[in-house]
Amino acid sequence: MKRVADHLSDVLEAIRPLPPLDVHVLDAHGCVLTEDVVAPWPLPQFDNSAMDGYAVRAEDVTEASDDEPVELPVVADIAAGDTRVTAIGPGLSARIMTGAPIPAGADAIVPVELTDGGTARVRIAAPPKPGAHFRRAGEDVGEGDVVLGAGAYLGAPQIGLLAAVGRDRVMVRPKPRVVVISTGSELVEPGNPLLMGQITDSNSFTLTAAAREAGAIAYRIPPVRDDPETLLGLIEDQLVRADLVITTGGVSAGAYDVVKSVLSQLGTVNFEKVAMQPGKPQGFGTIGEESTPIFTLPGNPVSAFVSFEVFVRPAIRKMFGAARLHRSSVKAVLQESLRSPDGRRQFARARLQPSSDGSYLVTPLGAQESHRLGDLAYANSLIVVPEHITEVAAGQVVDAMRLESRKD
Ligand code: AMP
Ligand code: MG
Repeated sequence: MKRVADHLSDVLEAIRPLPPLDVHVLDAHGCVLTEDVVAPWPLPQFDNSAMDGYAVRAEDVTEASDDEPVELPVVADIAAGDTRVTAIGPGLSARIMTGAPIPAGADAIVPVELTDGGTARVRIAAPPKPGAHFRRAGEDVGEGDVVLGAGAYLGAPQIGLLAAVGRDRVMVRPKPRVVVISTGSELVEPGNPLLMGQITDSNSFTLTAAAREAGAIAYRIPPVRDDPETLLGLIEDQLVRADLVITTGGVSAGAYDVVKSVLSQLGTVNFEKVAMQPGKPQGFGTIGEESTPIFTLPGNPVSAFVSFEVFVRPAIRKMFGAARLHRSSVKAVLQESLRSPDGRRQFARARLQPSSDGSYLVTPLGAQESHRLGDLAYANSLIVVPEHITEVAAGQVVDAMRLESRKD
């Protein structure tokens, strides 16, 4: 059997990052930047007010107090967005709103709360410090600064920053388009009645959601029967919109396992036994004119999910240029003893919890058979037991791979 590490490195070697694309800034959300973005102007672009209030010369109001307010004429009214150039002379003031350009001559802002709010004349009840409530041009970002470098992941604040420096389009690696296909004649769409022997398709839902969580655009196909002609036609049709294809089921040793024969007509896919539990039968290769990568995952729901986590998720992340391909792992103290098959790397569903001293405790969840979805949904981590270890006693330290999508 092939080692997990060898299979993973074969997969990652074959996967290429997608070529960069020029996209609208909002469509870049969740993508990785492939250019350095330079601020063509400073942020803020001009000195502006941080408060609604009055622009003054601080020296004119140093004596102001509650008992003896200083009264100044208001010679201008400046709203945010006002494009007129304004100025105030000695002994004068201008009413000003948050974000409005500060008039020349003013060196302090008095918040409206410290005044009577007057429009022709204003009474000021406290002296501002020079520079009070000023937002200085360039104090946030300097003109010519690289605000985001190639390789930066674009979450919500980064998208906003791009817009703030005037970018409507940016160069990013696009999100890979992943097509997810479940195979199996027993599978029925959820929401439909089940006959004896039928089950609802869950794998394609799990994996479509998992691919999206990994950063892909994922398309889910209704389940296909174990029929070579139908499957062949479907995959051929789907290839036009796929950067990556995932199938589940039909790769074991059963009489109706049709995936292998169909894919041999479309490309080069290697079907191998990987030394892991769950998830032994793994297929990976390329199909179609554009050598689209394809993973054929085992049908058992837990095997399919674990295989996705171990092999497919890093591949998707490499395609969109993510800096971190792998889930984070922590060392954790095992709470119950665990058995693991000799010669296979085990990924055991588990609950990970922080303990009061900052270390982690991890508890394996019941039976580890690969059809059990209940425990999978409750797991927030996978304990990784190396190939040569067959038993881990409670109290030992193990590696736990965090499944960050589980938030509780
Ligand atoms: P297979 O790999 O096709 O032999 O399937 C192995 C086991 O996983 C069988 O019990 C299947 O019924 C089950 N299975 C296969 N595909 C799915 C699916 N999409 N959703 C839920 N269970 C599945
Ligand atoms: Mg099957």
